[in-house]
Amino acid sequence: MLPLQPGVPVPQKRTGVVYSAVMMLHMHPDEHFDRDEHPEKPERISAIWDRLDAHGCIKRMRRLPIRDALREEVMLAHDEGIWNGVEWSAFFTDDALASQTEHLNGEDSLYVNEHSAACARLSCGGVIEMVEAVVSGRIRNGFAIVRPPGHHAEPDRSMGFCFYNNVAVATKVALQKYGRRGESAGTLSKVLILDWDVHHGNGTQSAFYEDDAVLYISIHRHEGGKFFPGKPDGGHTFSGVGAGLGRNVNIPWPEGDMGDAEYLAAFQQIVMPIAFEYQPDLVIISAGFDAAEGDPLGGCHVSPQGYAQMTHMLSGLANGRVVAALEGGYNLESIASSALAVTETLLGDPVPAPQQSLRCKVLASQTIREVRREQARYWKALQHDKLDPIAHDDSALPDGTVHPLSTLLRRARSERAAQQYGLLELPTPSPSGKEEFEGMVLCTPDLFEPEKKVVVLFVHDLGNLRAERPWLSLYADQEAAHVIDTSSRVLDWALKEHSYRLVDVAVPSLECAENAQPEAGFEPNGAAFQQLRNVSQRAAALVNVVYDHYVTHLIAADTRLVLIGHGAGAAALVQLLASRETSRLRDGVAAVVNVLNHNAVPLMPAGASRKTLRQWYTRKSLVLLPSDHVIYTSSEREGRRMGNLRQSKHQRSVDILCHEFHVIEAFINSQLQQQRPAAPVVVLH
Ligand SMILES: [Zn+2]
Repeated sequence: MLPLQPGVPVPQKRTGVVYSAVMMLHMHPDEHFDRDEHPEKPERISAIWDRLDAHGCIKRMRRLPIRDALREEVMLAHDEGIWNGVEWSAFFTDDALASQTEHLNGEDSLYVNEHSAACARLSCGGVIEMVEAVVSGRIRNGFAIVRPPGHHAEPDRSMGFCFYNNVAVATKVALQKYGRRGESAGTLSKVLILDWDVHHGNGTQSAFYEDDAVLYISIHRHEGGKFFPGKPDGGHTFSGVGAGLGRNVNIPWPEGDMGDAEYLAAFQQIVMPIAFEYQPDLVIISAGFDAAEGDPLGGCHVSPQGYAQMTHMLSGLANGRVVAALEGGYNLESIASSALAVTETLLGDPVPAPQQSLRCKVLASQTIREVRREQARYWKALQHDKLDPIAHDDSALPDGTVHPLSTLLRRARSERAAQQYGLLELPTPSPSGKEEFEGMVLCTPDLFEPEKKVVVLFVHDLGNLRAERPWLSLYADQEAAHVIDTSSRVLDWALKEHSYRLVDVAVPSLECAENAQPEAGFEPNGAAFQQLRNVSQRAAALVNVVYDHYVTHLIAADTRLVLIGHGAGAAALVQLLASRETSRLRDGVAAVVNVLNHNAVPLMPAGASRKTLRQWYTRKSLVLLPSDHVIYTSSEREGRRMGNLRQSKHQRSVDILCHEFHVIEAFINSQLQQQRPAAPVVVLH
């Protein structure tokens, strides 16, 4: 770690700024071109400068002189061809510049005029000066307000509005001077480059992909490689090679729409644990503001407060040696307010709290989890949770050593149900021919005794697994985990209070479903959705098999069926009613009670031909929802396909079942008192 030098007086102005309006001369060469049309417009830097000035920041900052980057500096990160190509553009004729721009704009997202080369040198030189001032200890931190940006520029290619890779060049210059083999050897051995521009910094990744002196972390919109720069190497499995293995961290959002919640979660769960373990001597932020709310290209929602919080977290590293260098960001208001928030944080002003909801999207959580799993190979800080075996592949263990928790839970529940209620296992064949439904269906021994008129079909999930984190370990621990199984409330009522006949189906379920479905950003065809759908399809298939093999044969002319669905069981019951729409089933059913968690409400089919079914379902059903279900907290509407909805006083379905069972009981009793439709008279000729 670069030491703070004792005895050296701390300068009054500890935060630097580098800027020159000359860099505004780089603009589209065609004077008839509507300059507002190109997002990388000259006013980007003046908008930031003016905002900092208006808020009194500039006079609190130390202004560093800006200079041209030198050929030998640029060539630390680029081929000679890049330097020559950019430099020569200054001598092009207007026509040559126009045709060059037409060519570059298509392939490389670049335009070039007679000032582009000078601006590229200044932009790069400005970041070099800022890094030098911070590493040498002249200032603690600083902001380089520069353009053109740099992080897309590859060693052998300028692209994406970027000529020279400012941050890569400045890092290489600093490492050359202060690094292990440099003039002031050993004072700078580890640099963290954190790139929060909404685009992947492909050029910076390339510059240090084999380098262990630089840890590159990028948070960007990726969309499987479809988002600019449109290459797969922004994916989370690109972790560096050779000496640089484990020194490249990509956090690739699968879609836009990410805000403070997602960025701060990525910081808390990936960036900061890794950064603390790495212990950098210097932090450079590739500070693009195109993930900011209002940016025309990024489609994300990071607020100025979000940027301030991220800056604040990074300031806890490297003795506060933080350089922010402007990259992208194309909404002038957004970049000005974001840059102001970053600068005020660098100046040590109070850090404002985020104003947005901090509930992280499911898709972002998945991304974070995948990145953690990938990076846990290289970082001990990500390997801490033994119930979350992130760095190990348990499926590789020998047969007989890995037991799915659901199997153990199901077995334990069957035993309990046998002891307390005398329930028996009901053999249930699976359409797949495998024994996948084994142990999932139980019944009362009197199931086939027709004198008892009421038959209860109770479909529920296995219970809610709760893993608590005891203070001793802070992490999830099996000794502190428990299962909440409220099915006994229904069994007590059906068997002890009434001695009804009963079929008990414990369907497979995924608890992640609790959060997944109502989420706006839930990817319709993503892996998680597929997994969820497979599980809910299995649940529906199981209930259909139980009905076809057993329940349908129990329905006599005077049988009253009571269907009770809890959690994941509710959707399976609705599917059964929709797919077995026979008068036999419908006439037999006296009541349908569904107790839901925060999942989407299961829907009856749409369409005119199913109208009678929907009306029937509304008459026969009671659908109890948690008090804070999305239906009651958002603009989402109740619909005719949802049945007879009722808002509970409780927030969890387990509490509804335990504490509002009297409501369920009253409903079922009133339904049972109604006459069953007369059985059709069969006339034999
Ligand atoms: Zn960008």
